[in-house]
Amino acid sequence: MKAPIRFRGSSFILHPSSLLLMLSQVVELIEKKDRFAITSHVRPDGDSLGSSLGLFWLLKALNKDVEVTMRDAAPHAYQQLPGAETSRVTPAVDRAYDAVFVIECSDIDRPGLIDLEKQFVVNIDHHSTTELFGSINWIDSTASAVGEMIYNLCKATGVRVTKEIAECVYTALLTDTGSFHYSNTTERTFKIASELVRTGVKPAKTAEAIFGSYQWPKIELLSHVLSTAKRDETGHVAWMWHTMDMQQKAKACDEDADGFVNYPLAVGEVEAAALFKETSPGVYRTSLRSKGDVNVAKIAEKFGGGGHRNAAGCTLKGSSDEIENQLVPLLQDAVKRSNGSKDITEDALSEPPPVAGGPSCTK
Ligand code: 5GP
Ligand code: MN
Repeated sequence: MKAPIRFRGSSFILHPSSLLLMLSQVVELIEKKDRFAITSHVRPDGDSLGSSLGLFWLLKALNKDVEVTMRDAAPHAYQQLPGAETSRVTPAVDRAYDAVFVIECSDIDRPGLIDLEKQFVVNIDHHSTTELFGSINWIDSTASAVGEMIYNLCKATGVRVTKEIAECVYTALLTDTGSFHYSNTTERTFKIASELVRTGVKPAKTAEAIFGSYQWPKIELLSHVLSTAKRDETGHVAWMWHTMDMQQKAKACDEDADGFVNYPLAVGEVEAAALFKETSPGVYRTSLRSKGDVNVAKIAEKFGGGGHRNAAGCTLKGSSDEIENQLVPLLQDAVKRSNGSKDITEDALSEPPPVAGGPSCTK
């Protein structure tokens, strides 16, 4: 296996010829090989599942031997996706494949699968911060979702976009663009969505399956989480807490909190928001969201996480006070920097942490 090239850094947009070269490597591999697996990150979301299953149907159409294998099961909202029921949930890559496609992952550890690194890995992602950990890397940071790339792969391999592929890819686009709200939504996103609808996707039906099929505990949990909402003195930064105790009281499951972090952003002047979700005592999965030029990906990266400029995540350890004292100033800083034209976030992020023995962080 070719040694993987490591790449860490800020946004890079590749020249179209580089994108074509990466795409042609993927097409060539698919033409030459037969036995594939597809995986994505832990706690899969709409893009990771939609894109993985879209690729699954693409490879099936080419008569390839293929399976989707993930560490975590599909959340309720995505169980209706065509092919979701055939996915394997396993902690390890325990079969031999010609190649494993790794969808939407910042690094080789994100899928949480033991022995993945022993396989011939194809890294397919649209995050500009991804590491080039694959033997083949196809990274297109201009794509609104990996789903858009899977659509392009259909065109490149000559596979007809079937109803199954269309539903999977549409789900990827819908969820990763925040229902076509976010700045990654482009003319190309709508063009592709339009073709998918022509193929048979019913936008209202898909949206209802994803956003309108929750159970009552989500509402109870929301009431607990919203009751913790705070904002800073400028009103531009807001944050909320989601504790294990709240989850228990509401009889809610993990995925019930999906989307909560967006609530504070509905307020006009709020430009950055955080949701700190306790996953074990003193450990918080942190979701960061922002508007416009406010870059929360850089903050998440500082703590071993990642994501996009306006949607990112990481894991923090510490007391709630320690975490607030560390995160809120960084969010305030990111807002300030986006208001001035100079992006000085990197200077602030390179300063040592303000509190010795403060929150430590893990992936
Ligand atoms: P969420 O807040 O919904 O969990 O994640 C938002 C975005 O940040 C997604 O694009 C997701 O892939 C990314 N993200 C969340 N957590 C992590 C993490 O721990 N590591 C990396 N690299 N990306 C993350
Ligand atoms: Mn995505």
